[in-house]
Amino acid sequence: MRKGIVIALVLVGLGSIMMFYAGSMSLLALIIGVACIPIAISIMPTRQKLTSMKLIILDRDGVINQDSDDFIKSPDEFIPIPGSLEAISKLNKAGYSVIVITNQSGLARGLFSVEDLNDIHEKFRRLLSDVDGKVNGILYCPHGPDDNCHCRKPKPGLFKEVAQRYNTGLKGIPAIGDSLRDLDAALAVGAVPILVKTGKGPRTIAAIAKLPGDSKLSSVPVYDNLSDYVDSLLAK
Ligand SMILES: [Mg+2]
Repeated sequence: MRKGIVIALVLVGLGSIMMFYAGSMSLLALIIGVACIPIAISIMPTRQKLTSMKLIILDRDGVINQDSDDFIKSPDEFIPIPGSLEAISKLNKAGYSVIVITNQSGLARGLFSVEDLNDIHEKFRRLLSDVDGKVNGILYCPHGPDDNCHCRKPKPGLFKEVAQRYNTGLKGIPAIGDSLRDLDAALAVGAVPILVKTGKGPRTIAAIAKLPGDSKLSSVPVYDNLSDYVDSLLAK
């Protein structure tokens, strides 16, 4: 609606200038017409800006819902980890914006469609709203491991998309995941990786133990689950 008004005002302004030069408009009409342009600029909608100090980025599978090596292909297979939805609701009440970024290579593998994924996320949002929670966005990578895209974690593309879309910095933002690729992507953009023991968490803990001692991930904070992390964060 507001975008339409802005476009109309700009067109009136530009039209006035053209008509003045064509000799079919008086100077007063030109001034009135041109005045539309600064008015348009002043009411131009601005991109939503999240306060970077109050943003949390979550992986989906294995953090919010039960993970499966067979992929989450339908709403029926989307089963929240106990306490995860309530944890997001607590974050909301504490003033945090929550954004989910998730690799969904099942799309590239032909295991489910974008419509299926939308249905899964509709169920997620509905269950979340039942506990007074919400997420500000769900960004996903649809590519497979061989697609050489920039968005599949551990690549930082999804994080960068969050920064661009929400006009926010990522330095110091907590990013909760259950896989090494979540943690590596977070480190790449200056976010703070947090590991949970749900989903692939146990495998990730074992993998981190094999990394060189000076790896940045050796000291990554580990929590039992999302609820445990959120309780700890909000108790500070
Ligand atoms: Mg995961």
